[in-house]
Order: sequence, then C-alpha cells, then structure tokens
Amino acid sequence: MSQGGAKGISIQGVGKAYVSRGAERRALERVDLEIGAGEFVAFVGPSGCGKSTLMNMIAGLLPIAEGRIVHDGRAVQGVNRRVGYMTQADAVLPWRTVRQNVELPLRLHKLADPAGRATAMLAQVGLDGFANAYPAELSGGMRKRVALAQLLAYEPGTLLMDEPFGALDAQLKLVMQEQLLKIWAERGQTVVFVTHDLAEAVTLAQRVVVFSGRPGRVKAIETIELPSPRDPFRTRFDPAFEAVYTRLWEALAPEIRREAAA
Ligand code: ADP
Ligand code: MG
Repeated sequence: MSQGGAKGISIQGVGKAYVSRGAERRALERVDLEIGAGEFVAFVGPSGCGKSTLMNMIAGLLPIAEGRIVHDGRAVQGVNRRVGYMTQADAVLPWRTVRQNVELPLRLHKLADPAGRATAMLAQVGLDGFANAYPAELSGGMRKRVALAQLLAYEPGTLLMDEPFGALDAQLKLVMQEQLLKIWAERGQTVVFVTHDLAEAVTLAQRVVVFSGRPGRVKAIETIELPSPRDPFRTRFDPAFEAVYTRLWEALAPEIRREAAA
C-alpha cells in the first residue's frame, strides 16, 4: 500500500467555515490525513461534524479555501472527474430502465461500448435479469445495486461513498456490504466511506477515522486488523472486532453526546 501523496488522497490542513446570515460557523478544522492508493478508509463522527463537507471537497464540488487536497498526484481544483461519488440520495432516474440508467454516465463520459460495459456491470452487481426493468419495479436493495453499477461503470479509481447504505434495513445493508467488498477485492479502488454505523465502518474498512464534533477534527484513527477477505455476515463475531469496536466507540460516544447537547 502506497501512502498518499503521489497516489491516493492527501488531505493537508483542510478547514472550512460556512458563512450564513453574516455569522461564521466553522465546520472543519485543520484536517490532515493520508489515504493510500487502494486503501479502504471509513469516516465516522457525529452528525454535522463536516464529513460530507470534506467529501465534497475531495470531489471538487466545494472550493478548498483552507489547506489543500492532492488526489493521484494532482491538487484538487474544480470538479474531480477521477472519483465516483455515491450518496444516500442516489441518481437513479425513474423514467429510465435499469440498463439506461447504467449507460447514462458512460455516454456522458463518452466512453466506448456503453452497452457492453453496462451488461458487465449489471452482471457484477447481480442484476442481469433486470436490465429492462424500471426503478419502480425494484426493491430498495436492487435499486441500490443499480446505483452501485452506475458508480462503477466508468471505472473510477477512487470511490467516495457518503452514507450510501444508510437508508437500507440492517439485512439489506449486509448484502450491499458484501457486494462492495467483493468489487473492491477485484478492482482495488481507493475507497472513502462515510457512515454513522460504527459496525459498518469496522466491517468494511482497513482504517477507521473518528472525527470530533463540529468543527470536525481527526480525533482518532484505528487500523482494523481483521482477516480478509471479510464476511459482513460473520466479521462481527470475531473477538478482534469487539476490541477495536470498543476502542473506537470510546472515542466516538463523547462526541455524539457533546454534539447532541450543543
Ligand atoms: P456531516 O456530513 O458530518 O453531517 P456536513 O458536512 O453536512 O456534516 O455539515 C457540517 C456543518 O456545516 C454543519 O454544521 C452544517 O450545518 C454546516 N453546513 C453544511 N453545508 C452548509 C451550507 N451549504 N451552508 C451553511 N452551513 C452548512
Ligand atoms: Mg453528511
């Protein structure tokens, strides 16, 4: 695993203040973090601590006024087209079939053979039989798999996932986690995964970063020494899971309390 800088994501002294109605409100404070190429990192922290703000800055959707972010050796300035970005609110369009939804980003990026790539992606997420279905005909989990196929279709080397499975029930979440880990094992993308579910963070990530309450700072980082490949249906019963989960929870819980009381 290489470290940040040349490949991966290097977050250097990044801060952010929002100004609303004349008052400045600090959302992030001097965040320094090196994410290696191919590394799977999870961000956890209380609501409002700036996780989505930081993701938007890595994606180049929000200007970086304090500090800088280097992705794959280039400072992020303007929209970063080398990342795939997935949020809880997916971009699946109801008036397009599953296949048309997956092909759309390929056509927008003017990539060769959108039909062939869409077929391959739908097979990868287990939706081969549903190419001509409309989103309204799918279950919540299947719809999420369409969003995953859309994200992966143009083969971004870096995936930014902001609470992507947050709206799913606990069982479907496990299915999606398994799917994501399988794809990551095959393709080795760099993944930044935001979740409010600490068990999900520990299950998926090689490192978990705990942010403090607003303004968000890096409070703790734990390397997750669990065997891989991981099985989301079983990993939580590994004694090592409980040990690292407890350490992380001790860092996270007071931040959640403090934020809730603020
Ligand atoms: P998280 O994703 O960790 O819940 P966000 O990055 O969404 O946190 O927000 C961090 C803080 O910045 C919050 O206090 C939020 O209210 C504020 N914030 C986010 N976006 C804006 C905006 N466009 N204008 C003003 N304040 C914002
Ligand atoms: Mg958020």
